[in-house]
Parts: sequence; C-alpha cells; structure tokens
Amino acid sequence: MNNRKQTIAILGSTGSIGTQTLDVISQYPDLFEVYALTANRNVDLLIKQALMFRPEIVAIADDNLYTTLKEALNGLPIKVFSGEKSISEVVSMSPIDTVVTAMVGYSGLLPTINAIKAHKRIALANKETLVVAGELITKMAIDNRVDIIPVDSEHSAIFQSLVGENECSIEKLILTASGGAFRDTPLDKLQSVRAKEALKHPVWNMGAKITIDSATMMNKGFEVIEAKWLFDVDIDKIDVVIHPESIIHSLVQFRDGSIKAQLGSPDMRHPIQYALTFPNRLNANIDRISLPQIGSLTFKQPDLNKYKNLNLAYHAIRKGGNVPCILNAANEVVVDAFLKEKIDFLAMGEIIEEVIAQSDYINSPTLGDYISCDTTTRQKTIERLKRV
Ligand code: MG
Repeated sequence: MNNRKQTIAILGSTGSIGTQTLDVISQYPDLFEVYALTANRNVDLLIKQALMFRPEIVAIADDNLYTTLKEALNGLPIKVFSGEKSISEVVSMSPIDTVVTAMVGYSGLLPTINAIKAHKRIALANKETLVVAGELITKMAIDNRVDIIPVDSEHSAIFQSLVGENECSIEKLILTASGGAFRDTPLDKLQSVRAKEALKHPVWNMGAKITIDSATMMNKGFEVIEAKWLFDVDIDKIDVVIHPESIIHSLVQFRDGSIKAQLGSPDMRHPIQYALTFPNRLNANIDRISLPQIGSLTFKQPDLNKYKNLNLAYHAIRKGGNVPCILNAANEVVVDAFLKEKIDFLAMGEIIEEVIAQSDYINSPTLGDYISCDTTTRQKTIERLKRV
C-alpha cells in the first residue's frame, strides 16, 4: 500500500455493516480516512460517528432530520447535507477512493451507479444493487474500469479462493447458508412463526431486513444472483448448501475437481477488512477458530419446498430481464409487512410469486425501466397486501 491514506465514504454508516466498517477503520487510523458518512434516519448515531471520525461530509436521507444534524455539528468543519439525492451525489466527490455501499435494499442502486461513473472503487455490501440491476452494473463497472470488491461474507470467501486462479477454471461456486432462524423448524410449523422469532439469527448478528431474508433464505437467493454477476458464472454452476456452523464461508470447485474454501469465525469485520485492504492482509483482532474445538462440520441440501424464496430467486435470474428487480421490490414490501405483523411468514413467498406472475416482462431493461419497475412493483405489492 502507498503512503497516502485511503479515503472512504460509507453509505449506511449507522447500520450493522457501517458500524463494523468504522470499527475496522478505527484499528488503522494511519491507513484510512473517513471522508463521508451517510445514514437513512439514525441521526443520533450519525452525530456520534461524525464527532468521533470527523469526516468532511455527512448526509442524512430523511430531510426532516437535517436541522438536528446541522445543529449538533455546528462550528465543526463538517459539511451537512440531507435527502436521498445528496447521498447519490456525495459519492462522486473527488477525494474519495472507496465507497462502502452498506445501505439496505434498493436505495443502494443509484448511489452505486454514481460511484462507478466517478471511478470509485466499490466495497459492495448492498447485494440488492446487483440483484436489481446486475447486468447494467457489471457492464458499467467494466466500462469504467472500476473494481467491485465483495463485502458479503460468502462472496468474499469466493473472491479470496479465486486469488491466483483463472476464472475460466471455475466449475462450480458453492455458497454456504446457515439456514436462518428456522432451519430446524418443519414447513408445517412455519405458518405460525412471528417476526420476533425470525429476528433471532442462530449465528450472525445483522440488521432486521437481512435477518428476515435469512430466515426465508431469500438472502441466499439474492446471493446466488450476486455471485452470478460478481464472478460472471452461469446460474446452473451456482449451488447452495446448508452449513449450520457457518465456519466455511463458501467454496469454489475448479475444473480439475479440486475445491478451495475460506474458513473463519463468523465475523463481518473480516470480509470488510479484506475488501478495504485487498490484495494485502493485515492483522485483525478477530476470534480464531479452533478445529479440534469445532470437532465436525455438517452440510445438507436446502429443502426448496420449505425455502420457497430461494427457488423464486433461481427462477427470477433464469428468466432474467426485470424479473430479479420485481423479486427484490416485492420482497422489500412483504418483509416490511411481516416485520409489522401484517402477514404471516409463508405469505411472503406466496405474494412475491403472485406479483412476479402478474408483472410485465422486460427483456433488456434500461436504468429508467428498472426505476419504474421498482415503483410499479411496490405499488402492486402494497395493493395485494390490502387483500390479506
Ligand atoms: Mg452473506
């Protein structure tokens, strides 16, 4: 690494990935400089982070919180902005080297596009960006010679396993899945599970939306789509295996039959740090795994009847076009409804399937098509929820 500090913008700095990114950065103050922090609504934490890390810029998506933020940072040399548009614009500021996209859901799309256009290195934690518009994003990254480094633990594992390898040697990618909160709950009991129980993830400590996506395995479905675009691999070469211990973070099988995997304790600070320091590895204060203590690692095939959403994700990416965008928008709406206890657990997958079936197919969507497809799908899904 050269002597100049790497300047970083964190989009979604108050979320689970955002706070852990700041944790990594604070271990290496002579390597990294926080240039911009953005948040959706958590103004209190954003203020705290701004006071501690002294970025040049902070931005909050919710305009109503502008005054609170501005007043709290009064007298400091920190520029304050609000509104989603400002978050999209912040990423293109010239001193920024790397943009960590750690916001939740569809909101990551436009800022990521702007960051790519401004030739920033992307540390991608917002998988929905690639789910919604993977084809457009990956093409744009190639055209602008921008590296997209995965932060998602599975994709980081694959990325690490591919160092020194030729991508044409890949025979199969194998994504591991913890199985989520209900991995031991039989299908006939899933009807009655509540949001509260779904939020108790057995291994990973994450935000609410991704924890529900993990319980339905939509998260893994999204990761299959994310892997297809990140590694340019055919969908039929991407497998999912349930691995409850979450020690192997994913694997690559090569054409000579050999398999490489990356192992470690389930701690997101590892893939975050690797994304920021790649191709180097630095010391990390992260728990070491002890193989004798773990004793055995187990694996099983996911039951696609139980995990309907995983099946829907495979279906969506095989159809391609705007179908993954529909999948994502409908999912965001139903997950929100489930968290608010408006619908039951199994209704999430049923409604998404219905909405996909009733939507118009667009073969090669433009950015405008994706934006309107997202809006229309949300409206359609909200309408459908009124009939529950
Ligand atoms: Mg993951």
